[in-house]
Amino acid sequence: MRKIGVLTSGGDAPGMNAAIRAVVRKAIYHGMEVIGFRRGYHGLMEGEFDLLRLGSVADIIHRGGTILLTARAPEFIELAGRQRAVKVIRESGIDALVVIGGDGSFRGALELENLGVCTVGVPGTIDNDIACTDYTIGFDTAVNNVTDAVNKVRDTATSHERVYVIEVMGRSAGYIALAAGLAGGAESILVPEIPFDLDEVMERLRRGVKRGKLHSIILVAEGAASAISVAEALKSHTHMDVRVTILGHVQRGGTPTAFDRMLASRLGAAAVDLLRSGCHGQMLGFLNGQVQGIPFEKALAQQKSFPKDLYQLATILAI
Ligand code: ADP
Repeated sequence: MRKIGVLTSGGDAPGMNAAIRAVVRKAIYHGMEVIGFRRGYHGLMEGEFDLLRLGSVADIIHRGGTILLTARAPEFIELAGRQRAVKVIRESGIDALVVIGGDGSFRGALELENLGVCTVGVPGTIDNDIACTDYTIGFDTAVNNVTDAVNKVRDTATSHERVYVIEVMGRSAGYIALAAGLAGGAESILVPEIPFDLDEVMERLRRGVKRGKLHSIILVAEGAASAISVAEALKSHTHMDVRVTILGHVQRGGTPTAFDRMLASRLGAAAVDLLRSGCHGQMLGFLNGQVQGIPFEKALAQQKSFPKDLYQLATILAI
């Protein structure tokens, strides 16, 4: 391995910059050259790249987003698009590519492997929906952002004696809602992984009112329901003052937490080690406290198991 490429793809996640920094610095430490492709697979197809030096990744460990930019590249899903990318890869002289992104990006990386390009993946997505890793880069920051927002909304909810239905991101997964709901003491948490009953949510609200609760917070994962429709249903069946807050993209912005920076540094460096040991076609995962390489096929074939015990705990504690 003398020269490698790195890119960020799919949705941005706080901590991606720390991962880029780790890949670049670890590779240079071992005497390799690194080039960075801009805008994910789009830049890979178009040949948009720069040489990354030690200084190129200075002063970024604490910044959200990605200095390499990211994009969704539908042309890459077509074989013709991927063949253009392979041509660019061959011309650029890289021996391997590090892809930092989510499961869609890893499907793309696996397709590149199938075309003979050595590829490794670093899981970066706020959704935490990738199997074979307990955490993905950006998840912890998003959970902290949402918890912070819940704390703030709770102040106004208490003062005005209101019910707030807060919608959070996660695409088709409920990990952010669960973690922030548990950390923020939400009265109800609605996630796509667990069937819910709005009658039960209302019953919990009524029970709360009976024992003198002045307010409630209901966290809704975007993949479970829309906060607006949940609020409409609650309004039509109760006399409570129900409001909606859709947090949107503030959840994925801001400085990454120390946890995400450490995770990104470890996984980024491990990606370089994996390539140096001659392995590829794998993603790096953080499983039971250990950094491990897992074949793309295995990780992509599995549905991440949802921590139902934590959900149960959140429900009990918000009784
Ligand atoms: P994420 O990586 O965050 O899950 P996406 O699902 O949007 O984000 O995927 C990012 C990019 O990965 C897509 O725009 C596309 O270029 C590429 N990609 C996704 N799925 C595939 C696939 N099945 N085959 C090839 N490339 C894919």
